Amino acid sequence: MTKGTLPLALTLSLAAAPAAAGAPPRWWLDEPVRLVQTNVREVDSTLDARRLVEQVAEFPANTLLFNMGGIVAQYPTRVAFHYPSAHLPPGHDLFGEVLHEAHARKIRVVGRFDLSKTQKPVFDAHPEWFFRRSTGEPAVYNGLYSACINGGYYREHALRILGEALERYDVDGLFFNMFGNPSADYSGRPMGPCHCDACKARFEVLYRRPLPESDRDPEYRAFLAESAREVAATIGELIHRLRPGAAFLTYIAEHTDVIMHESNTSVTRPLPQWPYSASDNVNRSRSSQPDKMVINLCMSFVDYPWRFVTVPPAEVRLRLHQSLAHGGPPALAMLGTMDQEDRSALLAARPVFQWHARHEDLYVGQRSAARVLLLPGERDSYRGIFRLLSEQHIPFAVSDAPAGGAWDLVIAPRGAPAELERFVRDGGRLLVAGAVEPAFPVRPVVARRPHTQGSWRIHDHALFPSLANTNLLFLDGEYAELSPLEKPLLTLVPPAMFGPPEKVWVDKLETDIPGLAFADIGRGRVAWIPWDVGGLYYRHSSPGHAGLIADVIDSLLPSGRQLRTNAHPLVEVTVMRQFEQDRTLVHLVNASGHADTAYFEPIEMRDVAIDLAGDFTRARAMRLGEALAVTRSGGRSRFTLPRLGAYEVVVLGAR
Ligand SMILES: [Zn+2]
Repeated sequence: MTKGTLPLALTLSLAAAPAAAGAPPRWWLDEPVRLVQTNVREVDSTLDARRLVEQVAEFPANTLLFNMGGIVAQYPTRVAFHYPSAHLPPGHDLFGEVLHEAHARKIRVVGRFDLSKTQKPVFDAHPEWFFRRSTGEPAVYNGLYSACINGGYYREHALRILGEALERYDVDGLFFNMFGNPSADYSGRPMGPCHCDACKARFEVLYRRPLPESDRDPEYRAFLAESAREVAATIGELIHRLRPGAAFLTYIAEHTDVIMHESNTSVTRPLPQWPYSASDNVNRSRSSQPDKMVINLCMSFVDYPWRFVTVPPAEVRLRLHQSLAHGGPPALAMLGTMDQEDRSALLAARPVFQWHARHEDLYVGQRSAARVLLLPGERDSYRGIFRLLSEQHIPFAVSDAPAGGAWDLVIAPRGAPAELERFVRDGGRLLVAGAVEPAFPVRPVVARRPHTQGSWRIHDHALFPSLANTNLLFLDGEYAELSPLEKPLLTLVPPAMFGPPEKVWVDKLETDIPGLAFADIGRGRVAWIPWDVGGLYYRHSSPGHAGLIADVIDSLLPSGRQLRTNAHPLVEVTVMRQFEQDRTLVHLVNASGHADTAYFEPIEMRDVAIDLAGDFTRARAMRLGEALAVTRSGGRSRFTLPRLGAYEVVVLGAR
């Protein structure tokens, strides 16, 4: 059996990276974390710190993300252009009290900053620090002026604000909301590109053209991302210098210790919902950056206008279980204190936090043990294959860079980067989907054809056992016309008459245009489905498309699937490794309560049989509290979980 090794960044891998000798401890990676964010308002400055911390402790959380400064400081700051809450009584230090009370109970505190907006006197004194619309007007929202990521507030003055905070308070980390220039304000009003002098000059130097009209311009987006990375580098350096052992947390991957994500909802977001959001966020960032932690905040509220009304309890629990199953901590965010008007999200999350507290050793140091790598791509194409892999119970890691590690199979949902050629030549297996030609030769392309509503005729049913009951699949989209194969697998049936019924397909033609091609390259093998099968599956869930992808995967896998199971497609199964404990964890997340826009309690499953590659001598279902009988043969281990509620984790050991 040969396996390709990806050439990029070979030093990175999903294997455990021991902390360098003498390096400060990394609580976010090496200790169990249960995080609650109480995102308090300026009027909450008089809250009872002891009571809040007691509620956090009893929840039970061990990490509190709490407001510190930026738009409103919850401590008596003395830095110019930084303002304590108008509701903070004189001499009162809310953040200091919360920190003191929390540390007394061994609860970590991460201070929250928001540097994206501030008050009018700062704008009056330093208008050059602020975001400018194309009209030259500042962006003002509820009286607050938007700062620009390239202005002096973010780039210089912030360091004075943060320096004071870090010198005065023994924080365990700093978190930044809205890091950089957002594309829209809280009401959804587009911001457009910033036309401040700093942005104009920097963009002109970097891209040798004026600022674009649209902030969707790819170069402008790259410019904004690079600007945020530059500021992150200076803030990260400051945090690590002044508070070694404190973490830098925000929504970007570079220079941070903890990559933040959110599972959230919006009433204006187009359907379908993405019920795998927590799995997606945590899997992708943990696998891309295994030396960083990922915290996926479960946002309690429905949308900005309804900050105090929560999403369904089963949705909250599903997100938290998904996070655990991919190596992230449980993290719940709410607006205001823990005295919520709608208690649903807190009540839903609490049992998950209680479970985590009783079994916290299960959730430290987890790394994906998946043998298949999924590369990100265009959203629908990526999500379609993501969901299919989950439904098929094929454990997979998602990584932004195809970095390091030996994989049984790499899947590229839309085109394939040039770096993958080496992987294939060295013996790797690759599935490429989509009409975008891979960056290295796989099969001669005659032409890229525009949107087509045709069909694919199946010729080789032996290759497609999942498609035994059909001769046709549907195509709705563009395709790359490949040169004909000697032995056709799938061929195009071009659009033909479809109405009235008397005329349907009367003019139908058959072609030899391939809908799938295999190529042997070097010692490896590539399958190319030259149309957007992932996007079609995401939108329509056709079993034909699912069967095609699954059968092609099975034909590529050098030694079969890592995991086989009779589990329902809506049970997500992950395989994780804890190297220090020398054990493997199989997580099962039951998403059978999700239907359309609704989340109900999942349906209990019975007798879930698991057959996993690897020699394991014992299995214990932690949720059930039962040892499971394990049988072994041919390098595989089999066990059956008698019952599955919303979540289970089976611990497998080899001794
Ligand atoms: Zn600007």
